[in-house]
Amino acid sequence: MTAIVRLAGVTKRYRRGREVVTAVDDVSLDLPPGSMIALVGPSGSGKTTLLNLICGGDEPDDGTIEGPLDTADWSQLAIVPQTIGLLPELTMGENVGMPIRLGAPAATDVAEVMERLGIGALADRPPEETSLGEQQRAAVARALVTAPGLLIADEPTSHQDEANTDRVGEALADVVVSGSCVLVATHDSRLLARCDLVFHMRDGVVTGANGVTRAGSG
Ligand code: ADP
Ligand code: MG
Repeated sequence: MTAIVRLAGVTKRYRRGREVVTAVDDVSLDLPPGSMIALVGPSGSGKTTLLNLICGGDEPDDGTIEGPLDTADWSQLAIVPQTIGLLPELTMGENVGMPIRLGAPAATDVAEVMERLGIGALADRPPEETSLGEQQRAAVARALVTAPGLLIADEPTSHQDEANTDRVGEALADVVVSGSCVLVATHDSRLLARCDLVFHMRDGVVTGANGVTRAGSG
């Protein structure tokens, strides 16, 4: 199957004074379409750096990344950042609808996706009048309004309880069924149970991958 993203020998170094940190060290991997893929590893192992490289937020020092950015079609890529990244001057609903306002084709109704993630009643509120968990679900909703080919989510359930983790997991699983590739950095066992493939990271190196048997639907 043709990969949606192909990394070959990708390396990223950060310089802090005299010290050089190799945050991502010679990583090669393929991300197949129609799959949910996890990146797991201890804090500081390079997960966020690797996600940033894949979504074009940063450039590798070595290696190549082939992916949706090659086509410059931004509607093919959606990101749920670890820092959530809602615009404070917009309402929750306006934040969720932002990709559509920027010209991406809408795949689902803003109100519908917000309802699904349990934030339907919050559409007219500014983010600062909502909880961090609700803001994080708005960031997930914003990534889902366009049915992207590649959805990258950095610890998307870090502020969720179990019921809301399942809401997020189900919504992500649905875009996978429609053919997208979802790549998540996560430690969450409820989310990992939905993944087809798990890459393990340590000190910038992808040390291995496991296929995961899909848990029953629910
Ligand atoms: P993770 O997401 O797995 O917690 P990160 O990708 O955030 O890990 O960080 C990997 C390593 O790179 C860590 O040692 C971190 O301190 C370092 N690092 C990340 N971003 C920067 C930066 N902008 N400048 C210097 N070092 C950084
Ligand atoms: Mg991180």
